[in-house]
Amino acid sequence: MLYQRSSQLFADAEKVIPGGVNSPVRAFKSVGGTPIFVKSAKGAYLYDEDGNKLIDYINSWGPMILGHAFEPVVEAVVNRAKLGTSFGMPTELETKIAELAVNMVPGIDKIRFVNSGTEACMSAIRLARGFTKRDKIIKFAGCYHGHSDSFLIQAGSGAVTFGSPNSPGVTTGTAKDTLLAYYNDLESVNTLIAANEASIAAIIVEPVAGNMGCIPPQKGFLEGLRKMCSENGILLIFDEVMTGFRLAKGGVQELYNIQADIVTFGKVIGGGLPVGAFAARAEIMNHLAPLGPVYQAGTLSGNPLAMAAGLAMLENLSNDKEVFKRLEEKTNYLANGMDTVLKKNGVVFTINKVGSMISVHFDANPVIDFKTAANGDNATFKKFFHGLLKEGIYIAPSAYETWFITDALTYEDLDFTINAIDKVSKEF
Ligand SMILES: *Cc1c(COP(=O)(O)O)cnc(C)c1O
Repeated sequence: MLYQRSSQLFADAEKVIPGGVNSPVRAFKSVGGTPIFVKSAKGAYLYDEDGNKLIDYINSWGPMILGHAFEPVVEAVVNRAKLGTSFGMPTELETKIAELAVNMVPGIDKIRFVNSGTEACMSAIRLARGFTKRDKIIKFAGCYHGHSDSFLIQAGSGAVTFGSPNSPGVTTGTAKDTLLAYYNDLESVNTLIAANEASIAAIIVEPVAGNMGCIPPQKGFLEGLRKMCSENGILLIFDEVMTGFRLAKGGVQELYNIQADIVTFGKVIGGGLPVGAFAARAEIMNHLAPLGPVYQAGTLSGNPLAMAAGLAMLENLSNDKEVFKRLEEKTNYLANGMDTVLKKNGVVFTINKVGSMISVHFDANPVIDFKTAANGDNATFKKFFHGLLKEGIYIAPSAYETWFITDALTYEDLDFTINAIDKVSKEF
């Protein structure tokens, strides 16, 4: 496949956009080469500026769970745009999507919409701090909660790929309020709680981690966090920006039957438009302005185009009783096929998956946290990435990323992918 035009477009972009991209994970820094510029996408496929067709396993990093240019979402946006694109005044649409989200997700009474997952998580910890009147938070190494200052402490994929786990520009004052624990390691949480008595506002966690590859919570991990939080007056925040409306209608809370205190959303909830949200029971949400003292706002929050897209997406997920089952079956099919051909070709690997999230790690040991995820062989990953690209398959250009399976993928696409993996891994 040729990438002449993409290379030219990237060279042009680099002159006026830092690194040529508006989000670092889009760059090909860790795999080499230049990013591919997209012209359009439909269903499971990307069409790039050089005329190549690619099977897409990134899907805008999650949102396009039903495939690109999903008709009901496109229609909702187009129709809504004709009525005006922003008012800075309330619309009925916002209540409709809020009602639906509150119905789909367990344990939440109220939800507020923002413009990104970053904003959702940033606002969630402010709310937790305001509610508990405490300053500190606990996060886990390798978990990503957006790029706001408090979270840029060992922050998974993007930040790790670029070797800047503690970004310059984050003050030491801010960093000191973020305590770092280890995923799937309750003892590390216990130690922090004991050493910071009555000063921890919240524990924020990706309940199924997706920003260091896909890492499922081990049995008892989330239950243990729930218990520690309840016993110590700490709020448990599930960052479901990636998992929300993806792993189940009600996200991980429903999947594993565990109740968080605050839940954050992004990605799928916007159907491909810039949307984030955070939600909790009324007692907590009522602390937000204008009802309460915790300030949070946004000129474009609840934007009608974004809400129309999100509503169409959630309605389709809510009405389709089989969608999450179908997604999981496709993921299992891919996992089994990949397992077979990689074994046959003598490759050392581990596959992790939950629902429609899957990752392959080029290491023999179980991948259960950031440290074990970092053991993967990046030289092999590079060959894997570029080999698949040549075959017309687009996976994330970093070994620390999850693949997102969409409902638009056919079993022919999956077979094609498995055959390509066979071909590519023969040459490792
Ligand atoms: C993507 C992501 C975010 C950040 O969302 P943005 O919309 O990119 O700001 C936060 N948390 C998790 C778990 C994510 O996967």
